[in-house]
Amino acid sequence: MFVGNPSLVLRFDPEHIFEYVCDEEVDPKDITIFNVRPLTILQYTICRNVLMGNGEGSGTNLGTFSLEVVKFGLVGWKNFKYEDNGEDISFCSNNLNALSVKIVDEISRAILSLSEVDSKCERSIRFTIKWSEYVGKLQNPDQWNCDICTKKKLAGSRNCEGKDLRLCRKCKLETLLSICPKCDKVTSPKFILKLNNKQTRYANEGFDYVTRCPVRFLEPKIMSIINMATFIDEAGSFPVKGAALEQSNYYYQIRQMILTERNLALKDDNKQNIPNVPKEVNLESSRMGRMGK
Ligand SMILES: [Zn+2]
Ligand SMILES: [Zn+2]
Repeated sequence: MFVGNPSLVLRFDPEHIFEYVCDEEVDPKDITIFNVRPLTILQYTICRNVLMGNGEGSGTNLGTFSLEVVKFGLVGWKNFKYEDNGEDISFCSNNLNALSVKIVDEISRAILSLSEVDSKCERSIRFTIKWSEYVGKLQNPDQWNCDICTKKKLAGSRNCEGKDLRLCRKCKLETLLSICPKCDKVTSPKFILKLNNKQTRYANEGFDYVTRCPVRFLEPKIMSIINMATFIDEAGSFPVKGAALEQSNYYYQIRQMILTERNLALKDDNKQNIPNVPKEVNLESSRMGRMGK
């Protein structure tokens, strides 16, 4: 596990060093600490190519892939000793073979977790972009502040607390059941909010419609990382000094997600507002739009 909780935004910096302790460590007085850092776009791509067997040294396997990740991402260790004589092992590429297969595998997974956006985080990012854009575009975005829900006593009707209240539209009966106890008809969620008030091509629960106050799900830490990536991109800049491929793969993945979501939103907007829009308008813009505040 990592020492401390590795912050998302520090993964934008491929030079930032995170401390990692292997799961098998039991004695807190005698732990080995491994210094790892997020992979750059180039390093990540090289590793993926190894995994797919079309990099240098083709026909390789998972073990070679893990070792490649470790070669790039492991930059030091503290208190790493030979098991037989207890002698300190100095950190250098020649001594990497002192690492057991199990440790290489674990450290490579730790490095990859700093270099790839996991699926839970990706979901939050996509959700946040869609809904913060939507809320930001409303006539009175302030009314979509969950404090206001509480103040204006809307928390119940907007289902801020996530109670699964459903409604039989025929009997006007509120129930927790999916079938109305009075008339046996299927009930529907009491609160449904659709993006742009319509069913979009990408409609799926939690993305294009919600049955709970969406503001409730906008996580500040995800908002801040999206705003940061947008700011860097709009400034025509990179998170750290260096060429494009020397940037962290983590930043690159987040930037790609933001661009994709914005383009989808743009396409939906165009389809909705301007019929027969000329093709150029639909083309991807290389810069991201402004984030809703
Ligand atoms: Zn709310
Ligand atoms: Zn009913």
